[in-house]
Amino acid sequence: MPFNLSLAEREAAGLKRTLPAIDRVDGRSLYSDGKQFVNFAGNDYLGLSRAPELREAAERAARDYGVGAVASPLVVGHQAIHRELESELCDWLGLESVMLFSSGFSANQAVIKALLSKEHTLWQDRLNHASLQEAGLLSPARMVRFAHNDMTALEKKLKPSAGLIVSEGVFSMDGDMAPWAELTRLANGSGNWLMIDDAHGLGVLGEEGRGTLAEQGLEASSVNIFMGTFGKALGVSGAFVGGSRELVEYLHNFGRSYIYSTHLPPPQAAAVLAAVRLVRKADDRRAHLRALVAQFRNGVAELPLQLLPSATAIQPLVAGEEAATLTLAAALKQQGLWTGAIRPPTVPKGSARLRITLSAAHTQADVQRLTDALHSAL
Ligand SMILES: *Cc1c(COP(=O)(O)O)cnc(C)c1O
Repeated sequence: MPFNLSLAEREAAGLKRTLPAIDRVDGRSLYSDGKQFVNFAGNDYLGLSRAPELREAAERAARDYGVGAVASPLVVGHQAIHRELESELCDWLGLESVMLFSSGFSANQAVIKALLSKEHTLWQDRLNHASLQEAGLLSPARMVRFAHNDMTALEKKLKPSAGLIVSEGVFSMDGDMAPWAELTRLANGSGNWLMIDDAHGLGVLGEEGRGTLAEQGLEASSVNIFMGTFGKALGVSGAFVGGSRELVEYLHNFGRSYIYSTHLPPPQAAAVLAAVRLVRKADDRRAHLRALVAQFRNGVAELPLQLLPSATAIQPLVAGEEAATLTLAAALKQQGLWTGAIRPPTVPKGSARLRITLSAAHTQADVQRLTDALHSAL
């Protein structure tokens, strides 16, 4: 193959990735190679991927609609179940209009590529998700990155009425939140648009699980574009973009990854709809998750590793070196505990880490096993 130069380099640097051989996984358990592990590496924060309500909704929709959407949304793919999900999302989050995407990655591509042209600027947090960074690189807009959550740095770089500021609700590799009151103030003051990608806040934070904005006492209408995904706390997959009716109509016409892609399968839309209904009433699951987060943080406070300041389900332990991170993950695996060893280029050089994620599906005993194993491995 004439294209494998960078793969060889990655391998030489010990950074080549391969797919793990997973047999089956849910919010709590993972089966690999005939062995069972406790899963601390997923994003099923509320344990919904196996919830009977979601499975039954998917089964019913498979019977009523079939398993495929048959076409892209603008042709004939957009059906009653999709409209029902859209109106539930509007009602839940207080949005005027929403549209559905097969993935968060394609939603971010559609928004940023369709809205911005070369006279615009896109300001993004340096730690924004790869889908946002990549959308920025592909868009003709000028991309300006600012230091993580540094509002003074952002303010210095802002120009009036020139484009879009985008940040995450909860940062996927660090678990901390962006300061949305401050972002709103800067966007309003400079006449720029503001977009949230709340993949990791939605479902977990705020009243009814409405996400990071609700957690920080803000309405969905304080941003121009609200993007969220269905593959994390909602336990399924897919995404939505919400905002004004005008924004959604515009993206129906110019969002290429929306227009030229087969619509969400009806069983998926039905499962997401069941998930949203469940999440709105899931205060018990959210309280259990918060208790596990507190238990974990207490349990590892004394370890010689940097625990990042996160109050969310994402609890990174930074080991620094790649080798140390891999050794630690392997020791935990020996104890039946599966954690994510995250290395560059996913995170900055020198900040390799265990990305430990907690789920309402875990028990206190699961978390105790993890903290005990970390103490004995270090
Ligand atoms: C997971 C994630 C995405 C991508 O969503 P998918 O539906 O998995 O494609 C986008 N943004 C953030 C912040 C994410 O964590």
